[in-house]
Amino acid sequence: MTTLYVSHPAALDHAVHPGHPERPDRIRAVERTLENERFAGLVRVLAPLAEPTVATLVHPEDYVEAIVAASPKSGFVSIDSDTTMSPGSLEAALRAVGGAVHAVDAVMNKECANAFVAMRPPGHHAEKTRAMGFCLFNQAAIAARHARKAYGVSRVALVDWDVHHGNGSQDIFWDDGDVMYASTHQMPLFPGTGAASERGSKDTIVNVPLRPNDDGAVFREAFEKGVLARVDAFAPDLVLISAGFDAHHLDPLANLRLDETDFGWATRKLMELADRHAGGRLVSVLEGGYSLEGLGKSVAHHVDALMGR
Ligand code: ZN
Repeated sequence: MTTLYVSHPAALDHAVHPGHPERPDRIRAVERTLENERFAGLVRVLAPLAEPTVATLVHPEDYVEAIVAASPKSGFVSIDSDTTMSPGSLEAALRAVGGAVHAVDAVMNKECANAFVAMRPPGHHAEKTRAMGFCLFNQAAIAARHARKAYGVSRVALVDWDVHHGNGSQDIFWDDGDVMYASTHQMPLFPGTGAASERGSKDTIVNVPLRPNDDGAVFREAFEKGVLARVDAFAPDLVLISAGFDAHHLDPLANLRLDETDFGWATRKLMELADRHAGGRLVSVLEGGYSLEGLGKSVAHHVDALMGR
């Protein structure tokens, strides 16, 4: 089983104000983890630079043009209360999009069994017409639409275990019966959406909120009954993961108490599901995770699972 690892040094050039949790060191922590000999079998590729038009798969043209136009020559420009752009941000964001799209291409063309895309900024808070929560473009959502458009994939499941609700992905797929968006997340917590009653106009939005201090056992039960059962019944032809690792107990931005083994478990469960319905086709895209230690350990378990261990 070959696992593709997609990243790019441009992810380090999306600068943020000092003290901002969504920082370049996150990618360094992932890279340090995957430098271990244990991961020597990964096929490593650089995330290609996407044309801005690729983002129009989910965002309107004028939104994409506004983000491109906002890119500063120096310093920072504020996009929303906790989202900024530096001179390197646009390239990082477009390579995050390009990396996710490339991973879908590689999996669909059977060049690899599955893929992990580690880029920043993250994407799942980016709505159709609104950047927020550290996110500019929603690369996981773009990857889902790309699979539909370029390969005629009938049904895509986008599973999001980031501790925050992916309001952006929910917004994008609210009326799209061909993409199931299924999320576990802490409530109450930013961004405030994600109640179980939010189901989309085609009943393909699945929200499974967890409570502060819920641990791995509670997460696993909720994930099995709430997420896996629904996604299994949906029988997707491709499984995407919005893989945030901020539900780890060490994370400073939230209060769930998962540990790294829970992410390995969830990965294997989704791989089994992908084997049943999708020929094993699975692409994981990094979202949050703000404890460098928690992120590193979680990525190790996640990628171990992707590699069939
Ligand atoms: Zn998050």
